[in-house]
Amino acid sequence: MLERALMEAALGVLGKKTNHTAQWGTVACALRAANGRVYRGVCIDLRCSLGACAEQVAAGQMVTDGETRVNALVCLRQTAAGYEYLKPCGKCQEYLAQLDPANRETLVVCGEEAVERLGEGA
Ligand SMILES: [Zn+2]
Repeated sequence: MLERALMEAALGVLGKKTNHTAQWGTVACALRAANGRVYRGVCIDLRCSLGACAEQVAAGQMVTDGETRVNALVCLRQTAAGYEYLKPCGKCQEYLAQLDPANRETLVVCGEEAVERLGEGA
């Protein structure tokens, strides 16, 4: 399995949770930054239709630490059977690329043995 540590980090926070006005955790992202640290995030969906993708939440923690470069990321969506791989949506691809143009080279794990570069339309 590619990027086992990232997979385990994402699985550790994957899982739907709710309160009266929000749900979160149906998608989880773990990314390895150039500083060597792993940052995690979960999607947040609010009743009013505002929200944030898991990748943006993870990247926000990375940027708070002063880092902008993402070397690799994994995104997982909760399913009835467990999980499936997700590729970053167009908004997240642009978000990461504008955060640091070198992020177009970010490795995106998109299967048990499959990776793409973010800039390849991952
Ligand atoms: Zn997204």
